[in-house]
Amino acid sequence: MRVSLLPTTDRSNGWLEILPPLAEPTVLTGDVVCDYLVIGGGYSGLAAARRLAELDPSASIVLVDGDRIGNNAAGRSSGFAIDHAHNLRAKSFADAKKAAQDAIALNRAGLDWLGATIEREEIDCQWVQEGKYHAAATDRGERMLGQFAESLEAIDEDHTILGASECAEVFGSTFWRKAIHAPHSYLVQPAAMVRGLADTMPDNVAVFENSMVTDVDYGDHGAAHTVRTERGSVTAPTLILATNGFTEGFGFLQKELIPLITWGSITRELTDEESERIGGASSYGIIAAHPAGTSVRRVTDPNNRIVVRNIFSFSKRSDFVGRKHWAAKTHRKSFENRWPTLSDVPFEHSWGGALSLSRNGEPVFGELRPNVYGTVVHNGVGIARGTISGKLLAEMILGEDSEQLRQMQAKGRPNRNLPFQDLGVRINARARRLIAGLEE
Ligand SMILES: Cc1cc2nc3c(=O)[nH]c(=O)nc-3n(C[C@H](O)[C@H](O)[C@H](O)COP(=O)(O)OP(=O)(O)OC[C@H]3O[C@@H](n4cnc5c(N)ncnc54)[C@H](O)[C@@H]3O)c2cc1C
Repeated sequence: MRVSLLPTTDRSNGWLEILPPLAEPTVLTGDVVCDYLVIGGGYSGLAAARRLAELDPSASIVLVDGDRIGNNAAGRSSGFAIDHAHNLRAKSFADAKKAAQDAIALNRAGLDWLGATIEREEIDCQWVQEGKYHAAATDRGERMLGQFAESLEAIDEDHTILGASECAEVFGSTFWRKAIHAPHSYLVQPAAMVRGLADTMPDNVAVFENSMVTDVDYGDHGAAHTVRTERGSVTAPTLILATNGFTEGFGFLQKELIPLITWGSITRELTDEESERIGGASSYGIIAAHPAGTSVRRVTDPNNRIVVRNIFSFSKRSDFVGRKHWAAKTHRKSFENRWPTLSDVPFEHSWGGALSLSRNGEPVFGELRPNVYGTVVHNGVGIARGTISGKLLAEMILGEDSEQLRQMQAKGRPNRNLPFQDLGVRINARARRLIAGLEE
């Protein structure tokens, strides 16, 4: 069958563009046969391929991506490698408490494994455990922060509360009134991380980039599957789809995924004088108290820059020039609201990237048809969830068993989209933007 939905991206991802130029990619040519084929070089696919190789060093594994790894959603993320979601639902009920604690433990397992890989492979991606700030700039935001603090207390999670003057001291801006610091998350340069993960794959993994899979023949009754790209093909008995929302194009999950694009912008490097002008800590990450608000990164090493992210559009494409201009204009306003004294500092890059949600928040994990496996829907915790689910999927395929795997398998499945789901999402996004107000 023809793959009916292909990713379309441009080379606008600031995180990737500020890295030194990439070496030429290895493009798939000719007909390759292997034991395991992984399609997709985001967090899920990179984790699945590495884990298969670790557990089965004699197996041949091929990872194919349609783009440069790092130019995907994984490399376009804001680099918050977080352990718990922005809005925890746990109150004092024991079952909700246990569910929240289990989800956090699973995310932390993903981050621990990722951190250990980064350290062992000496991947230079500014992986640092600085925690994350949740910060409020409005009355509503302060109320939401209060509820968030209650949830954290209910599940015995460490956190510290900062008042307005402490916020100003750390953030170099008087914009925020109150913040919560949760210490266990990491910050990272996302494109450097996924490039590093791809470049340090074990020897039994062959990585092909700029090799879009356009056709797939699923093998029936135990026969191998074959996929085709413009210049080659891969045949393997086991296929793993780590293709985010584009899994739909492979004939699965139609009408179950909600495709969204969210947008980021990065400034040019700040001069020493500009840094001194605003003051504050040299590196931090802020998530807005309101979920439709703006997240911010201050990035020091090696570049002294500020990154902002906000806005969700209902779309499967992240290359719309008009939308990008609109997002960049919104980012400009958000940036100047926070740092009016930096109004002369331009953005160097603005970009969109694909997220894939489900209506009930449940993920896709497991076998999609005989010997075809998938892991999709990582919500706002893609770094942790994508990594742990890719790793666990590999373990499941190789017959391993663990408490974490059972926990992943016990999760529900996405429910079907409603009629006019796109309209509903658009109205919801608009309403949430209005309610977020100044936090955008
Ligand atoms: C602007 C932005 C900010 C974000 N910030 C954060 C954050 O701070 N923290 C966080 O945890 N998450 C964040 N996310 C979410 C996170 O990026 C995603 O959840 C994550 O990338 C999903 O990982 P994945 O491996 O499933 O998919 P992806 O990273 O999208 O990888 C899928 C890969 O499949 C490939 N592919 C698809 N179809 C084909 C085909 N036919 N042939 C070949 N290859 C194909 C694509 O090229 C792509 O490389 C953010 C996302 C965006 C867009």
